[in-house]
Amino acid sequence: MTDRRPRSFFVETWGCQMNELDSQRLAGKLMEQGLLPTRESSEADLILLNSCSVREKAEQKVYSRLGMYRQFKQKRPEVLIGLCGCVAQEAGERALKRVPDLDFVLGPARVGEILDVVADCLAGKRVVATGFPEERDHDFDSISRDGTYKGMVTIVEGCNKNCTFCIVPLTRGPERSRRMDRILAEVEHLIDYGFREIELLGQTVNHWREPGTGDRGPDFADLLERVAGVPGVERLRFVTSYPRDFTPRMVEQFAGHPNISPYLHLPVQSGSNSVLQRMGRGYTIESYYALVASLREARPEISLSTDLIVGFPGETDDEFERTLDMVIELEFGSLFAFKYSPRPGTAAPRLGNAVDMAVADQRLQRIFAAQEPIQRRLNQQLVGSRIEVLVTGWGKRPGTQSGRTSCHRVVHFPLDGHEAAKSGDLIEVHIEKALAHSLLGRRTDRPDRPDRSRDSDQANHPRQASPGLSVVA
Ligand code: SF4
Repeated sequence: MTDRRPRSFFVETWGCQMNELDSQRLAGKLMEQGLLPTRESSEADLILLNSCSVREKAEQKVYSRLGMYRQFKQKRPEVLIGLCGCVAQEAGERALKRVPDLDFVLGPARVGEILDVVADCLAGKRVVATGFPEERDHDFDSISRDGTYKGMVTIVEGCNKNCTFCIVPLTRGPERSRRMDRILAEVEHLIDYGFREIELLGQTVNHWREPGTGDRGPDFADLLERVAGVPGVERLRFVTSYPRDFTPRMVEQFAGHPNISPYLHLPVQSGSNSVLQRMGRGYTIESYYALVASLREARPEISLSTDLIVGFPGETDDEFERTLDMVIELEFGSLFAFKYSPRPGTAAPRLGNAVDMAVADQRLQRIFAAQEPIQRRLNQQLVGSRIEVLVTGWGKRPGTQSGRTSCHRVVHFPLDGHEAAKSGDLIEVHIEKALAHSLLGRRTDRPDRPDRSRDSDQANHPRQASPGLSVVA
């Protein structure tokens, strides 16, 4: 009898940082069992597609991708194919029916069960592992983190907000906070491992509460203070913040800890109170403006980014104009705007009054056209300055590297005779040119004195994606 146990794997990741980290958890579990990551999906015995269902388009792409993977299986029938992530949770059994060669479906809250699921498949079963069982805290030591420059730490899973357009509460389940002592232990572990930037993750990251302590226990402001105080944390970021949950004590943390990056992603979604109400967001645009003002007062150099949805059901010209005015007035450092996409199981499609696609398209283009000169101008203000850049990897052009400023702006710079900096190195770059979405500059240190401040094995492979892990969006 032939041994069908997979010896190699490939994980393709779509969507947000939560999925990126889940993929690293999957890879870590598989590597502990001796499976090796491959660079190409066609070479792997086990292929995992870690999917995103936040928009309809992303979900459609998942199924066309699975269609491609089926072809590998037709050539090598022993290949196992698994659908993971939010589409897996949402579709469950339906995905197995729709894709005949799919071996298993694994929801985001079941990532830790990957080895059991693979074993069941080898025993001849097709498996659906979805839902939200009582979870034990994950083993952070077994996450495969190599090849990355930032250490991601989940602090809150799931969401209870039920915004009327959003599928996340259905795919990621109810909100669950992790214990502070486990979070701090994971941060210290990452610092020991060599990371300098820590990114705290949660769908509503600033709604973190010490589990079991109700409204009186430590909240996100307390957690930020503790994490910022861990020796070796040079940059601390967190995504995604919910405007209504951002308290004055959290704003104070920005003022009090220089290692909290002056960057905040604060999704507003619309500039119109009536649209915000239909979205069920629970705040007004006036309170959002007040929050932005207090953040800018606490940390004048802060760069804000946001998410916007245009063409939400019933969005009138006037409501849209308010969003456009807000974009111009608040001057975000960057923004992510999308056309509304109806998702199954959410309340918004029942509101009726769908906006014509062509109108939504036009509105989206007007948002981008308004934002572009703002970003270019904000970036232009940095030309001529020397900025600390965290190296993230090789640039797209040969002989260049890229990194991020503490405000999360992308910086490209040529090698210019330098030895390549390692992923995670902090270097200084003189900014020479501003584009709308990035900055161009040159290193200020001399080529004969490369930065050797970081010396761990994993850092010897600057900015290459880990084999077996492919992040798409
Ligand atoms: S806060 Fe709203 S938009 Fe964000 S994940 Fe929860 S339901 Fe979705």
